[in-house]
Amino acid sequence: MQTHFDVIIAGGGPAGVSAALTLRARNKSVLLCYSDLGALKTAHRVDNYPGMPRISGEEMIRTFHKQCEDAGVTLYPHAVRQLLPMGDTVSVMAGDQLFTCGNMLLCVGVVRKMRIPGEQEYAGHGISYCATCDGMFYRGKKIAVISAYEEGVEEANFLGSIAGETLYFAEKPHHAADLSDNITVMDGKVSAILSENGKVTHVQCGEEKIPVDGVFILRPATPPDQMAPGLCVQDGKIVVDADYRTNLDRVYAAGDCVGAPYQIAKAVGEGNMAALKMVQGN
Ligand SMILES: Cc1cc2nc3c(=O)[nH]c(=O)nc-3n(C[C@H](O)[C@H](O)[C@H](O)COP(=O)(O)OP(=O)(O)OC[C@H]3O[C@@H](n4cnc5c(N)ncnc54)[C@H](O)[C@@H]3O)c2cc1C
Repeated sequence: MQTHFDVIIAGGGPAGVSAALTLRARNKSVLLCYSDLGALKTAHRVDNYPGMPRISGEEMIRTFHKQCEDAGVTLYPHAVRQLLPMGDTVSVMAGDQLFTCGNMLLCVGVVRKMRIPGEQEYAGHGISYCATCDGMFYRGKKIAVISAYEEGVEEANFLGSIAGETLYFAEKPHHAADLSDNITVMDGKVSAILSENGKVTHVQCGEEKIPVDGVFILRPATPPDQMAPGLCVQDGKIVVDADYRTNLDRVYAAGDCVGAPYQIAKAVGEGNMAALKMVQGN
């Protein structure tokens, strides 16, 4: 698979799709990464988007993706885990692949809140969202994997090949039959991540405190400032200027992730504008 693109987009919702189509019209190579179908997948019926009356959110997104495919966008149904601007390019870890691009666009939708007590405080300090990026720090150690979806199974298997002991907690129900035999599937959910002297030491599950050296949290959406260290996020929104630039070099953002109103038409408009600014800026 090609590993360098003019633009990599994180997010396959209306903002990401609109940006991808605009960039293809300007002859840019585009990788569109998405972890799921985004906010729209739960919309039973959308009635306010021009030209597509009485359509379900899921059908709308599938139509958008087909249009992208026809336009020559490379669709990659995997989450972006980490990105790092490096001079003239941005390095992007998505799924289990390393890519590079000239510019990056974040269209990751409404920023989800960190859900587990302790998660906010220790993210990046014993809590990781990227198995491929941080797995080697836990060679031979005991780790908890908290996974909300099926893609977490593959990442947990990778971690299981490195760590001394791997415990698997399903944060939401999903198919996990393909977990390797050396991974222990736990009953119950992690209700808190505990620490001593600034270091993660245990996960709380029911009444039990289970000792661990580290925790990997695998969800379809990674908090943007964990995905992009140093990214400016305020009140859960990625901060952008009038040209949709974030504070990180070569990294732009658009759609719900930069703020309200949370509407398809606004997301589509911003994706288009961000793409044009990106093309004009380089
Ligand atoms: C139930 C419901 C009903 C709605 N109904 C309407 C309606 O009728 N009309 C209307 O105008 N608006 C509606 N909305 C709002 C609308 O869905 C959003 O405003 C719009 O989808 C925002 O588009 P977006 O591209 O910014 O984000 P989203 O559509 O949320 O897309 C975000 C994308 O980012 C991806 N993603 C997240 N993290 C990562 C990562 N780390 N790596 C790769 N990809 C990632 C997701 O998988 C997804 O593809 C509704 C929302 C909901 C929840």
